[in-house]
Amino acid sequence: MRREKVDVLIVGGGAAGLAAAISATKEGVKTVLLERDRSTGGVLNQCIHNGFGLHVYKEELTGPEFMERMWDELKEDVIRPNYTVLEIKPKTREVVTLSEEGLVIFEVKALVMATGARERPLSSLQIPGSRVAGVYTAGVAQKMVNIYNRLPGRKVLIVGSGDIGLIMARRLKIEGMDVVGVVEIMPEPGGLIRNVVQCLEDFEIPLWLSHTVVEIHGDQRLNAVTIAKVDKNKKPIPGTERKIKVDTLVTSVGLIPQNELIEGFVEMDPINKGPIIDEFMRTSIKWIFAAGNNVAIHDLVDFVYEEGKIAGYYAALISKNEKLPDSDKRFLRGQNVGVLLPQRFSQKKSFKIYLRPLKSFKKSILKFDDKVIRKFNWRIRPSEMIDLVVKDFNNFGPNVTVEVNEID
Ligand SMILES: Cc1cc2nc3c(=O)[nH]c(=O)nc-3n(C[C@H](O)[C@H](O)[C@H](O)COP(=O)(O)OP(=O)(O)OC[C@H]3O[C@@H](n4cnc5c(N)ncnc54)[C@H](O)[C@@H]3O)c2cc1C
Repeated sequence: MRREKVDVLIVGGGAAGLAAAISATKEGVKTVLLERDRSTGGVLNQCIHNGFGLHVYKEELTGPEFMERMWDELKEDVIRPNYTVLEIKPKTREVVTLSEEGLVIFEVKALVMATGARERPLSSLQIPGSRVAGVYTAGVAQKMVNIYNRLPGRKVLIVGSGDIGLIMARRLKIEGMDVVGVVEIMPEPGGLIRNVVQCLEDFEIPLWLSHTVVEIHGDQRLNAVTIAKVDKNKKPIPGTERKIKVDTLVTSVGLIPQNELIEGFVEMDPINKGPIIDEFMRTSIKWIFAAGNNVAIHDLVDFVYEEGKIAGYYAALISKNEKLPDSDKRFLRGQNVGVLLPQRFSQKKSFKIYLRPLKSFKKSILKFDDKVIRKFNWRIRPSEMIDLVVKDFNNFGPNVTVEVNEID
């Protein structure tokens, strides 16, 4: 066992962790980034489609290209691959890790959690039928195709029309699989509209809205699934069942932020399913910061990158014993607001807030208490995170209720 002292320790080497490393190293503090995989990048490694970096690098890049841009920005060699963080001890500020050299304990001044998210498994769908071969989560199927050059089967149905499901439908079709369709339990697609057009419509892949899989068939390998239409309570409607022959089912039913290392002692948000943070990306523990998909699920890497930059910068300041203002003001969720970041703020500076409406609206307004902050003359949807810079809080009290209302 070895011990090491660092100023800023970053856990996770995806987009958030790398961005945090870029800004922390610029502050001249001793920074180490731990990544449990052999290389950094996280989900970017397997996303070989373009659509990354329009905000940050003003170009449409693939996932690996976005990652390389971040490597170019990171001037110091601070990355330690093959390090898995096992435990964080909040009282002593120790981080216990396992690596090829055995146990290493880091004594840290500040910590940035950038552990990303994992996929919701098939079991969360509670579909009757045996657990046969041929059923994959979208991320596993994406890794097989894009990294290991293997097809998961010949004929596939996709469950879930979030961006990952849509992108995988197109990918598997391009690779030669017969993609029979995408089923979505909600009445509208879960992913970005540009992905519905570019991934399904352009490839003539059917999208069955308000449908779900009700049975899985097969002995050892999947040979068919039964789908059915659902009512407005998402209950299958008897008589609408249809059996479809497929040897592969790809499920894309959401991501779960990974926070097992901190949720025992950091204040958590039950809606975002991540730590409650302030505009400095600081959690309820003053020296622990967080950024990326472990804070809330983001559909755009640019937002993850921005959060990582903020977390790394302020973690570096804390490690230099600089003081940050107390975040004693709160955003409260009002009508129609789901994901909301940050939940606390100090009112000392302008900052960005991110939010997702709970349902889609053709035209709407965003209000802080009774004051209209933004008018949306375009459709807003739960699948697309809204970001806006807020500046002036002089007229608000310590609790600001955020809500979205429909207008004519
Ligand atoms: C299929 C798919 C398509 C997407 N398409 C787009 C797109 O077109 N455009 C766009 O802008 N965005 C897209 N996104 C979103 C964007 O890619 C992600 O939001 C972003 O990359 C997430 O970065 P992250 O750093 O938060 O998480 P991750 O990339 O998941 O990184 C987390 C890292 O932490 C490591 N880690 C976790 N636990 C530990 C531990 N205990 N010890 C050490 N390391 C640990 C993991 O190994 C991983 O490398 C897409 C995402 C997916 C999944």
